[in-house]
Amino acid sequence: MNNEIDIKESLLKDVKDHLPEINNQDLSQIERAYNYAKIAHAEQLRANGKPYFEEHCVAVAKHIIELDMDPTLICAALLHDTIEDTPITISDLQKEFGEDIAFLVEGVSKLGNIKYRGNERHVESLRKFFVSVAKDIRIVILKLADRWHNLETLEFLPEEKQQRIAIESIMIHAPLASRMGMGKLVSIINDLSFPYAFPEEYKRTKKIMDSLVKNADDTVKKMHRDLSADLFNSLKYLPKIDERIKGTYSLYKKLSRKKWNVDEIYDLIAIRAIVNSVADCYQALGAIHHHWRPVPGRVKDYIAVPKPNGYQSLHTAVFSGDGRIIEIQIRTQAMHESNEYGLASHHNYKNFHSQKGTEKESFAWIEQLRELQKSNLPSYDYYSQLKTDLFQDRIFVFTPKGDVVDLPVGATILDFAYSVHTKIGEHAGGGRINGKFMALKTPIKSEQIVEIITNSKARPSDKWLEMCITNVALSSIRKSLKTQRKLT
Ligand code: MN
Repeated sequence: MNNEIDIKESLLKDVKDHLPEINNQDLSQIERAYNYAKIAHAEQLRANGKPYFEEHCVAVAKHIIELDMDPTLICAALLHDTIEDTPITISDLQKEFGEDIAFLVEGVSKLGNIKYRGNERHVESLRKFFVSVAKDIRIVILKLADRWHNLETLEFLPEEKQQRIAIESIMIHAPLASRMGMGKLVSIINDLSFPYAFPEEYKRTKKIMDSLVKNADDTVKKMHRDLSADLFNSLKYLPKIDERIKGTYSLYKKLSRKKWNVDEIYDLIAIRAIVNSVADCYQALGAIHHHWRPVPGRVKDYIAVPKPNGYQSLHTAVFSGDGRIIEIQIRTQAMHESNEYGLASHHNYKNFHSQKGTEKESFAWIEQLRELQKSNLPSYDYYSQLKTDLFQDRIFVFTPKGDVVDLPVGATILDFAYSVHTKIGEHAGGGRINGKFMALKTPIKSEQIVEIITNSKARPSDKWLEMCITNVALSSIRKSLKTQRKLT
C-alpha cells in the first residue's frame, strides 16, 4: 500500500472491523488525530528511511486496534510521539483532543526515559516504577504496543542498540505484559527480541525447534480432522479448532529448565479447541481421552486452578499414534480472550463479577486492578477508569547511573543514601536532586535523579535520626551512634 489515502482508509477500516459499534464522532476524532499527527511528523523519517508517521505511528495504532482497545487509545497511539518528537506541547493536545488523550500521550512520553542498564537487581523495581509512572494502565498498554512495533523494526538499528533494546524488552516489557495477563503480547515481545538479545541461545533453540517440528504437518492435519469429528459427535456443534507452535523463547526457557532434554518437551505443538461452555471443556476432554491415549501426568486443569496471572484452560498431552506427542488445549471463548489479552480484554471485565465467587487466584495487584473495574461503566471505555494507584505509598527514584531505588513516600536524601549502601549513608555530606544541591533532610519525589555527595569527615549524629524515616537508615544510624559513644 503506497498511496497515503489508502493508508488512512485501511486504518479506518480496521477500526470499524474491530469496533462495529463505534459512533461517527469517535471515528472522526480518530481521523482528526491522524491528520494532526501526520502534519506534526511531516518531515521526519524512520531509521529505514520511510516517513515516520506512516511507518511507525500508524503501525502502533494498528497494534492498539489489534489489542481491541477503544477509540481514545487509538487516537493516543496516533499522537503518541508528538510531544517527544515534534514541537507539539501537552497543552496543544489538551486544546485539540481533550484532557484524557493529552494525559495518555504525556504519560507514554515520560516512560520513554526508563532504561534497563543490565542490572538484574533492579528489574522488579523498574517494573513497578514503570507502572507507578504510568499511573493509568492504558499508558502501559500503549507503551507495550509502541515497543512491539519497535521490535518489529529492530533490523534497521545499529547492532549495540538492537541488543540493548531486545534484552530490555525481555527483562521489563514481557514480564509486565505477563503480569497483566496479556499472553499474546508476551510471546510477541519475547520472540521478536530473542534472536537479538541472545543470538547463540536462539540459534541452538531454533535448530531443535526445526528438527522437532519437521514433518509434523501430516500428524497435525490428521489430528485436526479427527478432533473435529470427535468433538462434533460429542458436543453436537463444531468448535473452533486451531494450532499453535510454541514460541522460540518459551521453548528456550523450558529447555533450560529441563537441562536441554528434548524428550521432556510435550507442548511444542498444541491444538486448541474453543468450546461454548465450561461443562463442554470437560466433556471434550473425555472425548479426547477416549480417542487418544493421554501421556500420564500431563493433564492440567487450569480452569479449576488458574495460573497466577489468571490463565485458564484444560491441557492434556496425547500420543498421536505415529510417534509424536501433541498437546491439546480446551477453553471457552471468554477464557481464550482473557488468556490472550488479559486486562485489556473486554471479557475479563464482563466475567469478573461472575468469577468472583470461584476463588479465582490472581496476582494481588491484578486483583486490585480488577476491583477498580467494578463500577458499572459503559462497554468499551471501561478501562478509562483503570487507575493504578497501587504504588501510591512508594516512590521510585534514579541514581545518576539510571538504577532505580524504591523508597516509601516521605523518604529523604539521607534515606536514599543508606538504601544505596551503608557506607554511603554514613559518609553522606549532602546530595543533589536533578543536579541541584540539597540538604540531607530534603524529601525526595518519584522520578527524580538523586546523587549523594560523600565526605570522608561526615558521620552520623543524633540529629540524623530526625532526618530519615526508613528502618534501614534509622537502625544503621543508631548502631553507629552506639559505637561512637563507646569510643569516646
Ligand atoms: Mn513510538
